[in-house]
Formats: sequence, structure tokens, C-alpha cells
Amino acid sequence: MMTPGTAVKTFTMDGKPFSATEEETILDVARENGIDIPTLCHLEGILPTGQCRLCMVEIQGSGRLVPACATKPEEGMDIITDNPRLRNYRKMIVELLFSERNHICAVCVSNGHCELQSVAQRLGVNHVRFAYLHPRFMLDGSHPKYEVDHNRCILCGRCVRVCEEIEGAHTRDLRNRGIRTMVITDFDTPWGESPTCTGCGKCVHVCPTGALAEKGKSVAEMAKRRHFLPYLAMRRRGGK
Ligand code: SF4
Ligand code: SF4
Repeated sequence: MMTPGTAVKTFTMDGKPFSATEEETILDVARENGIDIPTLCHLEGILPTGQCRLCMVEIQGSGRLVPACATKPEEGMDIITDNPRLRNYRKMIVELLFSERNHICAVCVSNGHCELQSVAQRLGVNHVRFAYLHPRFMLDGSHPKYEVDHNRCILCGRCVRVCEEIEGAHTRDLRNRGIRTMVITDFDTPWGESPTCTGCGKCVHVCPTGALAEKGKSVAEMAKRRHFLPYLAMRRRGGK
């Protein structure tokens, strides 16, 4: 929201003039104006990290690619949100996500409610040009209400951030690097034995795929509910 005295940046996006306050990112401005930039790691209410790289936009002149969720527009910037180069990179990122783990939609509890699946459809990903790695990760069903299937994780980090920033439990974290990265609970404790987890389920409902799910839900029944995020984030910042 713009308050009196707020510095305003003016810039262009896809050839049209826009303005933004110092707090707003390129993604904020795009969403406010109905410009669709895909992302899998970003959620309103938790800190942006630019982790998935899907929201890359191009800065005209320099040719630089920057993550729209973590970049603030600068005065005079000329931003391109969609062109063949960006579409190609975004498709490639989604294909790499599919090839890294085992995303078998037909037997996934999130089939029909999965953000990876819908982004792939929107970008026209109908085949994967990279070799599938077919890792064999475990499913942790030790929690009474929830389960985690690492085969369906895209390492977006949403669960880690919501657990820390909104729930304040910091139960989750990431271990290792690159394709060996894993989401862990505490010091790699089975989820059901975690001394810090409150069982709130926030991580489950922000997960974009079927990696985190409620037990007892059938395929396509596991719709995510995350309307709580902006409200709780505002309360934690002391807003009314
Ligand atoms: S259920 Fe709540 S406390 Fe437990 S890991 Fe998920 S977000 Fe953190
Ligand atoms: S478990 Fe879900 S929310 Fe957490 S990093 Fe993996 S895909 Fe993202």
C-alpha cells in the first residue's frame, strides 16, 4: 500500500508503464496488474527466496535474468516477463524437476491439485528431454496425521519457511546440496518422533506437490488450504 512520502519507482514491464513502492517486488506488481509469472516456491506471507527460478524475468538492455519474486524494480528498468527465451528456460526447469525425482501423477495423492502438474500443463511440457534419475527415496509415515514422500519433493523450501516464519517451530530444514538435498525433520528424526513439531499441518498445506499429504486422503482429494498465510504473517509482524 502506498503511504504519503513513500518513494515510488517508475519503470516499464512488457512495454507498459508501471510504478512501485520501495517494498514491492516485480512479482507483486505483475500480480496486482494481472500479469502471469509462474512460480513454485513463492507464497504471499512467507519470505521470497527465488529458489525455484521459474519466475525469472529479463531486464532489457543488459539481458540479465532475475527472479521476479526477490527483485525490486529499479527506476527506468525495462522488464520483459514473457518471451521465447524465458519460456524455454521455464520449460527446462520444470522438465528438470520431473527428471530429478519420481513424479508419477497417476498414483499421486495430489493428482489434480498439484502446482507442478498445473505449471507443466500451462508451459506445454508434454515430454522430458533429460534422463530420469529414478531415485529411491523413503516415505515417512511415522506421524499420526501426515506423511512425507521425498520422491515427490521439488525442494521449493515452502515447508521449511512456513514452519519457521509462521508456526515458529523450525522443525524442518534442508540437508545436503544440489540433487542430494533432502527436507529433514529436526536432526533427521522420523516426523512422528519430532519433539518440536506442533502437528499444525501448515507445511502440508503449503507444499505445492504431493510430497506432504494428510493421511487417509484418496487420490485427488488432497486439496491444499493456505488462505491462512497472509493473515498469520501480518499478525506475526504485529499488524491488526
Ligand atoms: S506440522 Fe506444523 S510444526 Fe510440524 S513440521 Fe509442519 S509446519 Fe512445522
Ligand atoms: S516437501 Fe513440499 S513444500 Fe517441502 S520442499 Fe518438498 S515440495 Fe517443497
